[in-house]
Amino acid sequence: MIKTRFAPSPTGYLHVGGARTALFCWLFAKKMGGKFVLRIEDTDLERSSDASVQAILDGMEWLDLDYDEGPYFQTRRFDRYKTAIRQLIDQGDAYYCDCSKQRLESLREAQIEAKQKPRYDGCCRDLELSPGNGQDLVVRFKNPQQGVVTFVDHVKGEVSVSNAELDDLIIARSDGSPTYNLTVVVDDMDMQITHVIRGDDHVNNTPRQINILKALGATCPEYAHLPMILGEDGKRLSKRHGAVGVMQYFEDGYLPEAMLNYLVRLGWSHGDQEIFSRDEMIDHFSLDEINKSASSFNTEKLNWINQQYLMSQPLERIITLVKQRLGKIEVSFDDQADFHSIVDLYRQRVSTINELVDSILYCFQDFDNYDEKAAQKVLRPVALEPLEMLRAGLEGLDDWDSSAIHDVIEDIIQALNVGMGKVGQPLRVAVTGGSFSPPIDKTVEIIGKQQTLDRISRAIDYISVK
Ligand code: GLU
Repeated sequence: MIKTRFAPSPTGYLHVGGARTALFCWLFAKKMGGKFVLRIEDTDLERSSDASVQAILDGMEWLDLDYDEGPYFQTRRFDRYKTAIRQLIDQGDAYYCDCSKQRLESLREAQIEAKQKPRYDGCCRDLELSPGNGQDLVVRFKNPQQGVVTFVDHVKGEVSVSNAELDDLIIARSDGSPTYNLTVVVDDMDMQITHVIRGDDHVNNTPRQINILKALGATCPEYAHLPMILGEDGKRLSKRHGAVGVMQYFEDGYLPEAMLNYLVRLGWSHGDQEIFSRDEMIDHFSLDEINKSASSFNTEKLNWINQQYLMSQPLERIITLVKQRLGKIEVSFDDQADFHSIVDLYRQRVSTINELVDSILYCFQDFDNYDEKAAQKVLRPVALEPLEMLRAGLEGLDDWDSSAIHDVIEDIIQALNVGMGKVGQPLRVAVTGGSFSPPIDKTVEIIGKQQTLDRISRAIDYISVK
């Protein structure tokens, strides 16, 4: 059974790189009919926080990356790590070390001076120290001194590192707490992870982890190390680039399907296909098609994909999201109103739900200024008469619906013996501030009676004082 895991450290929000790792782990498990595990690596008590755990869970939920097992929390597994450390000591694969900070520091300085890679020199390796006398000792893994560690990475190909390059790393601190390389290995072993898919910032840990896995008698998983994601400026993606936490994209009005689609293309491709449904992603995904080089985050492309999803999703869903956004920014609106034509029209012209809402805000609250060109062209003295007739006609309406509104407009067109443009356009600019909107009767219906009348009066005043 194939099993993957996503193992974030809860030291911040779920960022774009983490979300992509999670997606690739999830996709591969789904593709292979396997299982996907979520493991929270929260052993760094100082840097971990409940808020970050929540941000990770929220991000996974928003992207609908469901896990079959977990979330496991490493902080709840300390006993297990202790047993593993004990096992390694007992079988001679780990040892206590009492080297002082000062000794290690001068060792390091001397090595740097001699242009050598700083590494532990194995001073305590054969001393068979044991804790006692109130002295808290660290535990180091006895890394093999001969031979080569080789693994075939699904992205990087064959990676070989000579054991002579690896020093005896600390697996338990002096307070007994386990270190990252130990906990990861014990968990990957216990959780029977078959494929470790993670960022390539961990590739240097892999040979060490393989050695510990072997010492514990575990079968080694396969590995796929994902190249990093760069910002638009070519530098490693970081907070400096703005919205890198995935929930920020939710806040900004992106659709989770679009985000997922964007993420899957960030470092993986299938021919030149850009738009993938979840099922298509699962069908086509393969670890061996992951790009070998870093990919760059490109907001323009994300916007393009989001726009494709805005267009292709059922209108009802977009309307629901629009209403959620209106609620969030505390704009009051009539929940029963017929938003269909307005939302449908504007979704073709914007990239995000937030932009969509911004462009229809005139339906719910007064706008500050008229679009300059529209006002110049349409709000002229010749528009006064139709606007006054509209105000009178609409004021008399008891039923505020688009067909009654339509009749009022029609009557005025007849009475003035002019074309639709001479009546509809002044009304449009008066109530929306611009020269573009869905059918005017629908627009006016959504804006509501009092606001429509007030805005017509405002336009009349505007023309009169010009
Ligand atoms: N907890 C590590 C991190 O967030 C990942 C460990 C792993 O995937 O092996 O970078």
